[in-house]
Amino acid sequence: MSVLRFDQWLTVDARGLYCRPGGFYVDPNGAVSHAVVTHGHSDHARPGHAAALATRETLAIMDARLGEGAPRRNQALPYGEPLSVGDVTVTLYPAGHVLGSAQVLIEYKGARAVVSGDYKRGADPTCVPFELVPCDLFITEATFALPVFQHGDAAAEVAKLVTSVAQFPKRAHVVGAYGLGKTQRMIALLREAGYDRPIFIHGALQACCDLYESFGVALGPLMPATGAAKDALKGAIVLAPPSAIADRWSRRLPDPLTAFASGWMRVRARGRQQGIELPLVISDHADWRELTETIAETDAEEIWVTHGREDALLHHIATTGRRGRALALVGREDEDQ
Ligand SMILES: [Zn+2]
Ligand SMILES: [Zn+2]
Repeated sequence: MSVLRFDQWLTVDARGLYCRPGGFYVDPNGAVSHAVVTHGHSDHARPGHAAALATRETLAIMDARLGEGAPRRNQALPYGEPLSVGDVTVTLYPAGHVLGSAQVLIEYKGARAVVSGDYKRGADPTCVPFELVPCDLFITEATFALPVFQHGDAAAEVAKLVTSVAQFPKRAHVVGAYGLGKTQRMIALLREAGYDRPIFIHGALQACCDLYESFGVALGPLMPATGAAKDALKGAIVLAPPSAIADRWSRRLPDPLTAFASGWMRVRARGRQQGIELPLVISDHADWRELTETIAETDAEEIWVTHGREDALLHHIATTGRRGRALALVGREDEDQ
């Protein structure tokens, strides 16, 4: 172990988490000269960086989503390959969150710090599974950091959707799902469940589906929902961004039954407020058990908490004899909200 304290070389400023001896930010909330980016969600992959280091998949997602705002210089780093950056060594490890998502291991003077980015431990056919990285400092997300959040089995939630389609064969089942990650996971889980009919998608979801397929994630037959014959949509599964399920777009579907795939659906009142008939608890973030078990398994003595509800997790961390700290990073939001 190094004699340096972590806050002497990993600092937090208005742009976010900065690694001084490496000269880069991790997931900065605004344009910087050098960024390491954990994954392509918009609260992590901001526009305007001069140079970015990430997985090949994340860089492709940034190119597709940011257009002119994509980094001017890209460096792709495969999982598990150490790279010297300034005075530190950076290695990316799978985070199991979305295609290309990575945890960032930063090694400096014998100390190991891991930035989790967003992660989950549950199975997801559309991305490489989370890999545990032992470290001294673990900087963890905390989106669902309350004991009430237990995500359960995603396949069982998808089975509820398939059952509902069989029960209501004349109703279009419109499923709210975030465009990058959740949509493709829902489709892949439906295919795993044996659902081989065409799945209809809102136009806003097409580009990300194409991108996943270009990286070898098979999604089966997809059809544009807009312009489809009303008869074809009876008893069909239609995926749409969460913002579209409550608006005019979904009201033109035949007798729409609204579902929503999100970790927040564990909170029943939330689904009811949004008029969701079929809440599906499917999350791409770690739940309380995954968060606390991962913290223990990393064996880190120091835990920094970002991105969510810190209080309960900090209390838990203290009871395990570890040092905990809330990082007040601005600009993080949950993509499911
Ligand atoms: Zn994310
Ligand atoms: Zn996030």
